[in-house]
Amino acid sequence: VGAATRYFTQNRRNSCFRRNVADQAFVTLATNDVCCQGALVLGQSLRSHGATRRLVVLITPPVSHLLRAVLSRVFDEVVEVNVINSADCIPLARTWTPELGVSLTKLHCWALTRYSKCVFLDADTLVLSNIDELFDRGELSAAPDPGWPDCFNTSVFVFQPSLETHSRLLQHAADHGSFDGADQGLLNSFFSSWSTADIHKHLPFIYNLSMAYNMAYTYHPAFKQFGSAAKVVRFLGCRKPWSYKYNPQMGSVVQDGTGTAIPQQLAFLNLWWNIYHSSVLPLFENLRNVAEHT
Ligand code: UDP
Repeated sequence: VGAATRYFTQNRRNSCFRRNVADQAFVTLATNDVCCQGALVLGQSLRSHGATRRLVVLITPPVSHLLRAVLSRVFDEVVEVNVINSADCIPLARTWTPELGVSLTKLHCWALTRYSKCVFLDADTLVLSNIDELFDRGELSAAPDPGWPDCFNTSVFVFQPSLETHSRLLQHAADHGSFDGADQGLLNSFFSSWSTADIHKHLPFIYNLSMAYNMAYTYHPAFKQFGSAAKVVRFLGCRKPWSYKYNPQMGSVVQDGTGTAIPQQLAFLNLWWNIYHSSVLPLFENLRNVAEHT
């Protein structure tokens, strides 16, 4: 009887769990075919670590038919949205990083109201273990930005879709602009109490670990001490994993003259490429075979 009770309780818990998690999702954004390569690796890394929530990718009109087809093999939903560019919607914004203006398109994630709660991850992040526990957090939960820790970094955040919040965010962009010309400046001025209001909304840095040459001197010993606990890494800056060359025989990116990876980053870059080779390229080949035989 004990075992049966345990079985039914467990089963009931599982079915509640399944019912609950169907209305929660991991969400990413890719506005072009290049960023889609990152989204695909991210999606496969979430799947390989047993993500129990739905996977959603926001795309914009320039994404090709081929990439849409491949994305739909990895993501449960491929949702087309229009591009929001700070140059268009915030004409007076002080745009420090013009190439990041398109990241305001991210704001459309608040319109995914068929989900009660979501975790957003940039397409240049890579998941290293199961992160379903992030759904226990409330809006807006995020990790501190390594450059200015009183601000949160918007590469990984927990949010609650709502059309009201969506339109208030767009209005906020039009009224106040974004202090960095991108989504991070806007979201930090909108959720302005983040740094002081609720410590539960501060995600540990291991959920958004970034690496760059110019990190503070305190970074390196901390990386040595805590880096192995990282759950999500982010490839910060203009050199993204897909811009490296990879040698599949060596299982390693090629360190060419165009800039070498920092040692901490190298293992993660190699992992990214490993996933790309083993779980993303075969999807392209598979689609090509299907196309040839129809
Ligand atoms: N992004 C995109 N298209 C672009 C630039 C950015 O879809 O042309 C999305 C993508 O999800 C990317 C995120 O916006 O990961 C943030 O941009 P980026 O990674 O360049 O910012 P960084 O992490 O370097 O600050």
